[in-house]
Amino acid sequence: MVYGTMSQDSYLPPAKKFKPGTPQSSYIRKGAMQLGPRKHPVPIEQQRRNLPIYQARAQIIGQLRQLDSAIVIGETGSGKTTQIPQYLYEASIGRQGVIAITQPRRVAAISLASRVSEERKAELGKLVGYTVRFEDVTSEETKVKFLTDGMLLREAIGDPLLRRYSVIILDEAHERTVHTDVLFGVVKMAQKKRKELGKLPLKVIIMSATMDVDLFSEYFNGAPVLYLEGRQHPIQIFYTKQSQSDYLQAALVTVFQIHQEAPSSHDILVFLTGQEEIEAMTKTCRDIAKHLPDGCSQMTVMPLYASLPHSQQFRVFQNAPKDHRKVILSTNIAETSITITGIKYVVDTGMVKAKKYNPDSGLEVLAVQKISKAQAWQRTGRAGREDSGICYRLYTEDEFEKFEKMTIPEIQRCNLASVMLQLLVLRVPNVFTFDFMSKPSPDSIRAAVDQLDLLGAIERREDQVILTPLGRKMASFPLEPRFSKTILLSPKFHCTEEILTIVALLSVDSVLHNPPAKRDEVQAARKKFISSEGDHITLLNVYRAFKSLGKNKEWCRENFINGRNMMLVSEVRSQLRDICIKMSMPIESSRTDTRNIRQCLAHGLFMNAAELQPDGTYTTVETHQPVAIHPSSVLFHCKPACVIYNELLHTSKCYMRDLCVVDADWLFEAAPEYFRRKLKSSKN
Ligand code: ADP
Ligand code: MG
Repeated sequence: MVYGTMSQDSYLPPAKKFKPGTPQSSYIRKGAMQLGPRKHPVPIEQQRRNLPIYQARAQIIGQLRQLDSAIVIGETGSGKTTQIPQYLYEASIGRQGVIAITQPRRVAAISLASRVSEERKAELGKLVGYTVRFEDVTSEETKVKFLTDGMLLREAIGDPLLRRYSVIILDEAHERTVHTDVLFGVVKMAQKKRKELGKLPLKVIIMSATMDVDLFSEYFNGAPVLYLEGRQHPIQIFYTKQSQSDYLQAALVTVFQIHQEAPSSHDILVFLTGQEEIEAMTKTCRDIAKHLPDGCSQMTVMPLYASLPHSQQFRVFQNAPKDHRKVILSTNIAETSITITGIKYVVDTGMVKAKKYNPDSGLEVLAVQKISKAQAWQRTGRAGREDSGICYRLYTEDEFEKFEKMTIPEIQRCNLASVMLQLLVLRVPNVFTFDFMSKPSPDSIRAAVDQLDLLGAIERREDQVILTPLGRKMASFPLEPRFSKTILLSPKFHCTEEILTIVALLSVDSVLHNPPAKRDEVQAARKKFISSEGDHITLLNVYRAFKSLGKNKEWCRENFINGRNMMLVSEVRSQLRDICIKMSMPIESSRTDTRNIRQCLAHGLFMNAAELQPDGTYTTVETHQPVAIHPSSVLFHCKPACVIYNELLHTSKCYMRDLCVVDADWLFEAAPEYFRRKLKSSKN
């Protein structure tokens, strides 16, 4: 049996019982009503009344009616996101316009809109709707609109005063995504300007699941903080006695340990880091669960991650069949943006996949890293929603003590090229002094502006940064500047059709499905698509085959292609194509000629180039950082002299992912100045 090495003895006895910090002034009594037994659904109106927030309804309405800006704090699941917009609507607050609720995640926006429209017994897209990248389900009638923070930012480009909205709720503010952070500034500016111009006032509500609100309140001119107390039951926490070298194995063992001991109605939520890992673990759990001894209850394993289509996402809200235990394997999406009922056990690996950025080296990498203490508490809290719960932390208490206190806002650890471009399009007078709640370092702002300069998106005149016509066009695409640039360059290389496909493929999670247990079969099936020119062309071959066979699901299964992601690619592609058509770009296909395509990629992505060194290793041109070809690349066993890559992933070493073979000459043509400078610095 695969598991069995980690028993209760592997954990320290519960060190402490956890109850989240008691709010300073709560106006809800705790746990006044219990949810009905989970296997018997309660009518939806009753569910609304059962939420902790319901008892504070009158006070909330009273307060929010008065205030221009407010911060609302409450445990995940207390009803902030689904109820507050409805309370406002029911109390006719903000009826002159639309009530917007932003979400950092696309799936959360969709599932929340569906839930709220269901609660209002309205068809989705009528009174309640949503807008996410590549999808708009709203109409003239829509008064309550869920949208991703990225979408609201795009709307601000067209109308910086955001005039159609009477209320903007910036939700999940604690996540501090780049978009949310930029929105803080944009919304604050819109609120102030509308007031000055005597226009319809804009009410701004910031909602967060964590207690650190001083920064929010201070930033919004001392906005009052409303605390909601959630229904939180005591949670026992177990730490491991020893540090775990393999958190996946530890998680697996812990899940099956619980499964053998706990009643089947107690569901388990496991925090992992990403889609591939979760899919692999889902399969392993299902396989093991098939071969459990008699008497063991059944297990229903469900993956949960941001790119999962929302229909599948919805499965996690449903009860498992009778006598089945629900085991949900999730990314940090279940930390706050989505509430799942029935969870009694949380297994926290202590890891998360997140961006890291070093402005000195200009290097942005996606890395699996330790979570912060705040995240650990948030994860733990998921176990105590309906009754007392248990959280297994797959790390020692000492390790926990070494976690960062708070998660550093993304704006301080990512490449800011997109953000700076956005600010310029928003006509922010001086991007260097934009009113950020947490200021990124001047170095990373400068690095981003330099990058935009290299891409031709801006010009510098004296101290001023001015958007070029090309830069304005680049901002029309919901993409990173380097990808927009690649698309805009493609007519010159007569390969727009292919570039659109490639960019769409790189914009969604991997379309290649690689079940480790079927390696040989996968390799055999994949062979026919593989191009010696790299991953971009290989992916293009996959997409072409998919399309020529009428987007066949069966074919996807046989070829280990993720059909869902493939459908998404095709949607994304058609949206990008629409933008090109609106700009009257000629759209040609280079057909069998792939040289043009690679040349175009080299011209757009020249900042992500790496060169083979005499000793057989690679270094990036940008920073001379040693990098290696990721084992998932079709070029893993090859040694091309010069490549461009899509991203860097830091695990045991720094890997390049998604590579394309290019000529060094093309790179030089793309940005002669830049390469002269880089060449010089590499000789020093
Ligand atoms: P908060 O924003 O405070 O975290 P929400 O308003 O998102 O809370 O959720 C409140 C409650 O509504 C949840 O605890 C859950 O019971 C229910 N709920 C929310 N979304 C869904 C959904 N998609 N399906 C079923 N129930 C949901
Ligand atoms: Mg919420």
